[in-house]
Order: sequence, then C-alpha cells, then structure tokens
Amino acid sequence: MSKKCLTMDKLVTHCKSVGFVYPGSDIYGGLANTWDYGPLGVELKNNIKKAWWKKFVQESDNSFGVDAAILMNPRVWDASGHTANFSDPKMDCKSCKSRFRADTLIAEHSKGEVNPDVMTNEEMEQYIETHHVNCPRCGNHNWTNIRQFNMMFSTSRGVTDAGQDIVYLRPETAQGEYVNFLNVQRTSRAKVPFGIAQIGKSFRNEITPGNFIFRTIEFEQMEHQLFCKAEDSERFYNEYKQKAWDFVISLGFSPDELRFHDHDKLAHYAKAACDIEYLFPIGWSELNGIHNRSNYDLSRHQEYSGKSMLYLDPVTNEKYIPSVVEYSIGCDRLLLACLCDAYDEEQLEGGDMRVVMHFHPFIAPYKVAVLPLQKNLSAKAKDVYKTLSKKFMCSYDEAGSIGKRYRRQDQSGTPFCVTIDFDTLEDNTVTLRDRDTMEQIRMSVDDIAAYVEKKLEF
Ligand code: ATP
Repeated sequence: MSKKCLTMDKLVTHCKSVGFVYPGSDIYGGLANTWDYGPLGVELKNNIKKAWWKKFVQESDNSFGVDAAILMNPRVWDASGHTANFSDPKMDCKSCKSRFRADTLIAEHSKGEVNPDVMTNEEMEQYIETHHVNCPRCGNHNWTNIRQFNMMFSTSRGVTDAGQDIVYLRPETAQGEYVNFLNVQRTSRAKVPFGIAQIGKSFRNEITPGNFIFRTIEFEQMEHQLFCKAEDSERFYNEYKQKAWDFVISLGFSPDELRFHDHDKLAHYAKAACDIEYLFPIGWSELNGIHNRSNYDLSRHQEYSGKSMLYLDPVTNEKYIPSVVEYSIGCDRLLLACLCDAYDEEQLEGGDMRVVMHFHPFIAPYKVAVLPLQKNLSAKAKDVYKTLSKKFMCSYDEAGSIGKRYRRQDQSGTPFCVTIDFDTLEDNTVTLRDRDTMEQIRMSVDDIAAYVEKKLEF
C-alpha cells in the first residue's frame, strides 16, 4: 500500500479495534483529546521508552537518569519563564464560540507558505483581516482580537480550603533536570560535559489539541539536557541533531519521510533551534526539538533560588555556569509516527488483503505468538509458551483457523509466529513464520529464543 492511503481515521479505527489505543473514559462518551493505551499500546510505548533510554542513557557516555516530581515549587515556573510566557496566541470566533490559535489559522490558510512564528500579534491580526481567514468551524469572519492564553494546568495542595497553595502540573519535564543539575553532578561525580535524561508526563492546556495522539493535553516527554562549556555548545548541538536523527532512523524510518526544520524565530537567550519533522498523514509536523539554550536555564535558577549553579572545573579550576543543549521528543508523538510508519495493507495471492504492522522487532508489542495447529496440541504449546515468556512478551492463541491467527498477529505487529504441530511431539521442532516475508522455517524448540533474541538487537 502506498503510505498516502493511510488516514488518521483509518489508524484510529485500527488502534481501537486491535488494542493499541482507546478513547479515554470511553464508556462515559469519552473526554475530548484523552486516550488510553491498551494491551498492545502499553507494550509498544514501554519498548519505545526502553529504546530511547538505551541510546541516550545506557549507551551514552556520561549520561544519567532522573525521575523528578510532576508537582514542583511554583518558583520553578517563575524562573523558567512559564508563568509569564508559556502562552499561545488565541482567537475566538464570536459567532460559534470556537477557539483557535492565530498562528495555526495562518499556517493552514497559507498552506505553509507564510511563517507565523516570525509575526507579532498585530501582524497576525492584520494578515487574518486582509486575507479574509474565516472560522474553520462555522465559516464566519467574526474574530476577537488575539489574546495570549497560558497553557499551564493549575491545581491546589493543602487540606483546608483557607490554606491552599496553587501548584502547576509541569508543562515540560526539562525543569526536573535543571533543578537537579548540582545533585546529579555531585552524587555521580560527573564532569562537564555530562547529560541528564528523564522520561515522564507533561501537561498542557492546548488551545487546539487533536489529530489523535499528536497533540494532547497530557503526554509523555523524553528529554535529554547536555551540560557543557559555552564554547562547546555549537559542536554538541550539531552532535545531538545527528544523534536524534540516527535514533529515529534506527527504529526503521525512511530518511525520505524525515526532515530538519530550523527555527526562524529564536528565544532571546537561544543560540540555535531546530525540529525534526515527520511526514504524518496530516502533513509534515514536528516530531522532536533540539535547542542550544546557552546558560539561560541554570542562570535563571541561580537567580530565583539563590543557590549557586557554578561548576568548578577540577582540571582548569575555571568556575562557570554550564550551557545546555536540549533534545526533547514526545513519546506519544513518536509512538504515533511508529504506528503510521509500520501500518501497511498488502494484497495477497488469491485476492486476500492483510493489514500488517512492520514494527522494528525491538519495539513490537509481542515478540512471539505461540499457535497450536489443533486444540489437542495445546499442552505442548503451553509448555513452549511458558518457556518463551520467561524471555519475551509472548501471545498465545488457539482460536480459529491458522490463517486467521496469522492475520491477527500481523495486525498487532508480532514479528514471529511459532506453530506447534504433530511433528513437534515427535522431534521437538516447530514452524517459525516471519511477519514481514511470511516465510516459514523449521527449527528446534530449543533454538527459538536465541533466534528471536538475535532479531531483536537494537
Ligand atoms: P508544538 O510546536 O507541536 O506545540 P513545542 O515546540 O511546543 O511543540 P516542545 O515544548 O519543544 O514542543 O516539546 C518537545 C516535544 O514534546 C515536541 O517535539 C513533541 O514531540 C512533544 N509535545 C509537545 N507538546 C505536545 C502535546 N500537546 N501533545 C503531545 N506531544 C507534545
């Protein structure tokens, strides 16, 4: 199938029907833009996180992990600038009361020809007026002025109504790495340059969430902050651009469906910033960001906390506040890209069609499915299943014809199916079927684990 045939609606239906992702609070009619991961989705997500951690912590020199609290001292968000500036330009349609981001209205109206990132609010209002950009929902041209809308969710802590303090659900995981810079440096005896990585939930009250799990109000981020000397930051920025690119390629993505996009408008402290974009069914859109942030973050925390963020170089005795090169990727957004990339509809001989998810075996939810050819072979099949389950996530299925069972595993993206037949009882061999080529080979039960392990290498 040409990937162009994959629509978001088709993917949502597939995900719901096989158990990747369900609408959140489904039996209550859902809650807009919330999604629950099902049995296949949770495995896929965990494996994506494992893959990322492997490349950016396990195999990265001088990288350390943290898992910081979601609720942080509100001063953190003053220091980071989120209290004052974490906002998007919103416009309301006075006719149908729908709310939109002004920058998105312009980007969509101009089909990507105009870059609203470099425009002021007044310029955006002017553009919307002169180009008669109408409300995408009701078609009227009846806009409010642009107002900035802060996207942080707040909640309160404290047990009495009188004594409650406002706290925020973190809108990014990065601040958990910055505030722990000194803790990690000291306890790990880390020398600059070194990195701190974190995977965790973030929350944003997005004006226009949507497109399935592309933009949600609750999502997971995988972030790596590299602390370095200012003069090395450009080199590390380029290195992390390449590492971020190589990571997605290693998951099986084609370079034709990925591209870099340099930011035209930089924050006043930033030296450089770019995204990697993927060709989603909704068009080219951001997958991750890489930023050269100078020493802004640690300097601001020094200013707001009153704690010195100076690093003493043990070799040169220099004292300085390190610069940060940030690499940030949404786990759910990468998972969506993996689903889009893996989805295929293949025409089979005899006129049948199969839906198959060609995941890299490392991230596939189940690695092996054990299928007894007939029910009276289930004792032996369950033995094989029990042995393989000690090593990998396995699926067991004895319902329906073998052809139907293969199709079910193809839809889930299981790379290998092991069929137990009467010969298995005689000589302890099975048929192992490859998801992508559909080729079948005969092998001993004792060799399956090593064979599969080799294919899972990442
Ligand atoms: P966008 O321009 O799409 O709003 P951003 O530039 O604000 O994203 P960052 O703050 O740099 O994004 O966040 C880093 C990554 O987190 C993004 O590249 C994306 O993968 C992911 N991400 C950001 N916002 C969301 C969201 N609302 N839902 C899902 N993933 C998100």
